[in-house]
Amino acid sequence: MKNVGIIGWRGMVGSVLLDRMREERDFEHVLPTFFSTSQAGEPAPSLGSAAATPGAAAPGASAGVAKVQDANDIAALAKLPLLISCQGGDYTEDVHPRLRAAGWTGYWIDAASALRMKKDAVIVLDPVNLAVMQAARERGLKDFIGGNCTVSLMLMAVGGLLRSGIVEWITAMTYQSASGAGAKHMRELLEQMGSVHGAAAALLRNPASGILDIDRAVSAALASPQLPHAQFGVPLAASLISWIDKDLGNGQSREEWKAGVEANKIMGFEAAPIPVEGICVRVSAMRCHSQALTIKLKHDLPLAEIEKLVAGGNPWVRVVPNDRESSIRELSPAAVSGKMEIPIGRLRKLAMGGEYLSAFTVGDQLLWGAAEPLRRTMRFLLPHV
Ligand code: NAP
Repeated sequence: MKNVGIIGWRGMVGSVLLDRMREERDFEHVLPTFFSTSQAGEPAPSLGSAAATPGAAAPGASAGVAKVQDANDIAALAKLPLLISCQGGDYTEDVHPRLRAAGWTGYWIDAASALRMKKDAVIVLDPVNLAVMQAARERGLKDFIGGNCTVSLMLMAVGGLLRSGIVEWITAMTYQSASGAGAKHMRELLEQMGSVHGAAAALLRNPASGILDIDRAVSAALASPQLPHAQFGVPLAASLISWIDKDLGNGQSREEWKAGVEANKIMGFEAAPIPVEGICVRVSAMRCHSQALTIKLKHDLPLAEIEKLVAGGNPWVRVVPNDRESSIRELSPAAVSGKMEIPIGRLRKLAMGGEYLSAFTVGDQLLWGAAEPLRRTMRFLLPHV
């Protein structure tokens, strides 16, 4: 049993992380100490039936701590050899440098983007870049950071193709879910849906009402200041938002910038990066991101060979046949939500020529996009703790 500190377990990514740790019986291997910036002194969360209870030490192990600890207590954090944070970038920027300055040499695993592009940090996605992670650990790196959800999901889908060396560039046009912005945004999306439906409900009940009257009621609801918009600022239900994250001032959003820099860092392509670019769009899906990819190959390759390279990428990627029925049943947020598998379909050569490949992929952004790489990195590092 190894002692592990878990910070940010109450949040959306942290909750999914704990669920997955219970499912995979990780608590048979780790004794957790839970930290919070607001709940110190409260009882620690349940670990599920298969697990040791925090505070009840397994033979030969030091005890986890039954009460939630203060996430700003550097001395308490520094007692743990491995910390996982799902707390957010501001927390990381505040606490991580103070911990290191205090001489802490433990492993730091983080969902936030704050440290991702630092030279002493590795971005983790072991089904795609285990070799990069191993090399980083052997070099003595201690900061193991989860990637951007959209980038991680894209690489889970096309990592096999990228590794083969045949890809010249990729455009990714994204359809990103509300969950990527956080729990409050998911709630607001549903409230917006309710408002929009409410505005048209009476008309909908009457089969004789005209569709233009219904549409006018919906448009009025979307334009109304009464539509809940505190999180998104604008309507997302029955609409979309064509910008995600900060404005870099050069016409590009920070989310779009991450695609290229993070994908190349994850793949270990930094010496000869390939362009990965596109437009990131928020749509009214709950927790699955979708992406339409155009992939420029260095040379033409038969589709069957491309499908083999894609399918061989990792055990979770699954090629969906490029036909209407398979696509509408299997390639949608509704079909993929809560699943570990990464379907990719709509694979075909485009009219521009044999080197131009289209693809469409969907993934649960809270699983492979956020929590899963963190728990797998913890398992990867445990033998070295
Ligand atoms: P979140 O849901 O907002 O949770 C962050 C923290 O908010 C919690 O740990 C908790 O900290 C606090 N909190 C305050 N009120 C809460 C409440 N009522 N319920 C639960 N928690 C509450 O953040 P998140 O979406 O999990 O994201 C965490 C980090 O992961 C961010 O850096 C984010 O950028 C990154 N990330 C997110 C995603 C994603 O899909 N959302 C994907 C990849 C990476 P205390 O216990 O200290 O109060």
